[in-house]
Amino acid sequence: MNGVAILGSTGSIGRSTLDVIARHPGRFRVVALAARTRHELLLEQCRTFRPALAVLGDAADADLLAAALRAEGLATEVAVGERGLIAAATAPGVEVVMAAIVGAAGLGSTLAAARAGRRVLLANKEALVMSGRLLLEAVAAGGGQLLPIDSEHNAIFQCLPPGPPGVRAPGVRRVWLTASGGPFLRVPLASLGAVTPDEACAHPRWRMGRKISVDSATLMNKGLELIEAQLLFGLPPGAVEVVVHPESIVHSLVEYVDGSTLAQLGHPDMRTPIAHALAWPDRIESGVQSLDMLRLGSLGFEAPDRRQFPCLGLAEAAARSGGTAPAALNAANEVAVAAFLEGRLNFTAIAEVIERVLECQPAKPVGALEDVLAADADARRAAAGCIEAGGGWRA
Ligand code: NAD
Ligand code: MG
Repeated sequence: MNGVAILGSTGSIGRSTLDVIARHPGRFRVVALAARTRHELLLEQCRTFRPALAVLGDAADADLLAAALRAEGLATEVAVGERGLIAAATAPGVEVVMAAIVGAAGLGSTLAAARAGRRVLLANKEALVMSGRLLLEAVAAGGGQLLPIDSEHNAIFQCLPPGPPGVRAPGVRRVWLTASGGPFLRVPLASLGAVTPDEACAHPRWRMGRKISVDSATLMNKGLELIEAQLLFGLPPGAVEVVVHPESIVHSLVEYVDGSTLAQLGHPDMRTPIAHALAWPDRIESGVQSLDMLRLGSLGFEAPDRRQFPCLGLAEAAARSGGTAPAALNAANEVAVAAFLEGRLNFTAIAEVIERVLECQPAKPVGALEDVLAADADARRAAAGCIEAGGGWRA
């Protein structure tokens, strides 16, 4: 039995992970579950999966959960906040950690899981984009594994020979990251300023949390994934290409020097990459139907429009700058997306805020985690100031 901790268990990835695990009761045992809010849902998950530890972001919610667990005679212990997340990631009996917290909030627990030598299933791309090689070094030092959950990176992983993360596989010329194009692929640029959060979150192919849904609508998600791919597969900026593929059937491709291009295909359902990484190198049922090639019809591929989606270009520039630039990009994006979701910022101003933050915060080299955290904090402050000033820049 593999002991599993799920960080972000109440989210879209967390719930899909529990769905896969529930199909294999003899193979996986849930040891720890962690979320920020939604204590009722976490209680329900504790009833079903009986973890040793449950973690919530807030002490009052944690007290409510602990009282409910006691009342039902469940032995699950309850912990709070960042210390609780790290306890969950490193708890005895945990071999696999699903890192599915959204945003920078997942960095500390993902690093802790890596340092402790766990198999880290990385959905939380922001943690890798921010910390870059530091996370890869933590995986190497801990002696564990890092398996990508992001569908594109999981697809690339499946098309590559086995090898350590961060090292370019021999014979790889480049990788092609597919992008659905999000809900605004065919929407005229002029009308994007007025789109609402609900419109931005109505993704045509994937059902996901609200932050990544907005990132998919701006194409920042693909920008973050471009940085994620460079790091995971040891590729220089020019060796990762983005191609728009609206059907979301081909999840990404690896191009080799001999003219071969390998792809992974499947229905757009995250349970496939989750099941792949949970069981790797075995294969297990995920609950996802196989593709019916006779009904698939034609698949389209086109170049992304960087004028319509400036976030992609901003991420490419941050990838080229390196150092703290990806952390600053990510932090500015998190602040801008939160403001958009709260109705304080226009959709098109998300890219403007990020651009201004990056202009005034030149990339510095990353020696240690403190450099990343400082860049993250500076960019958050700068982005908040920018938004407060109504889209204008405030030094
Ligand atoms: P979501 O918003 O549905 O869920 C986020 C989860 O993280 C929730 O359980 C929430 O409680 C938890 N969380 C947030 N802040 C926390 C904190 N401070 N402490 C503890 N828990 C916290 O998001 P999601 O769509 O499941 O995405 C999760 C991550 O996976 C993101 O990094 C996203 O980019 C990545 N990802 C998601 C998908 C997808 O299909 N949903 C696909 C690829 C990658
Ligand atoms: Mg993805």
